[in-house]
Amino acid sequence: MRSVTDLASLARFILSPDCQSIVILTGAGVSVASGIPDFRSPGGMYDTLRPELITATEQQRKLMTMDPTYVVEKNMFLQNSFPYLEVRRPFILGVRDRIWKPTIAHHFASLLHSKTDKLTRVYTQNIDGLTNAVGLPDGKIVSVHGTLDKAGCESCGEDMDFDAFCSEVEAKIRDIYHPEKGPQESTPIKCPSCGKATVKPKTVLFGSSLPAEFFDKASQDLPTTDLLIVAGTSLVVSPANSLAYNVPTNTLRVIVNNEPVGKELGIDHSPDAKRDFFARGDCDEVFLDLIGELGWIAELKELEDNLPRVSLELINAKYK
Ligand SMILES: [Zn+2]
Repeated sequence: MRSVTDLASLARFILSPDCQSIVILTGAGVSVASGIPDFRSPGGMYDTLRPELITATEQQRKLMTMDPTYVVEKNMFLQNSFPYLEVRRPFILGVRDRIWKPTIAHHFASLLHSKTDKLTRVYTQNIDGLTNAVGLPDGKIVSVHGTLDKAGCESCGEDMDFDAFCSEVEAKIRDIYHPEKGPQESTPIKCPSCGKATVKPKTVLFGSSLPAEFFDKASQDLPTTDLLIVAGTSLVVSPANSLAYNVPTNTLRVIVNNEPVGKELGIDHSPDAKRDFFARGDCDEVFLDLIGELGWIAELKELEDNLPRVSLELINAKYK
């Protein structure tokens, strides 16, 4: 009988022959150390939205004032792509310019893959593209809500080169946060394939269905998952949270979070839990300790050029 009660025993389980397939589910918490703004938190995109600055009709502005999430709503976007593109402009260009770097939690997935070959998949609810920045093979990642670092047409589905798209955003979309920086007026970015002004990063808009890949891969991966690591997500967004209760009953579930999340999904946070292990703490701190228990600190340190400053400080404070 497996008994995982701390990070040391978790590390032993990961390295043991009993553990062959590992699935990771991530949310906003794994990106905190990168410094990327969380759209939903106070001070984030929705909280500070000023509809009067956005290129839109009075009616569209009224909707956005009532509910800022109209910025990322499908019907709004198909009628007028400027609210989405103007609000997201700094994030799109920031992703292109690699302003935000992947954290220790992101790098854990690539170390796990290269050191053990047991990583089956990372499911991320984040759109920030940081999961794609640690060198994992593309097929190892499912971006449940899409991703900001790829571009495509919402109408015809054709992909567009991300750098070419970013150049268009820079030249054609007004910077509503720093109006002196970009063009004075927004002009449409047209799809090279269908001609409609509906090109955008490949994030999932409200009112759209999730990528079929999520359901395909989940039904393929979950039956044989030995370990599910749930990191930095409150487990309230469906259907991503279904991974937590769709794994077999003998799958070890590890929750990395500051809060005991997922109680309503049946996660047991007590110290003597049989099936679950609650690793309380900030994602970067917990994953650093886990990497330490796994004996991979030297490999982590080699990635210093691709880590945020706060993550580096944390590593250097613990492992001189
Ligand atoms: Zn198109």
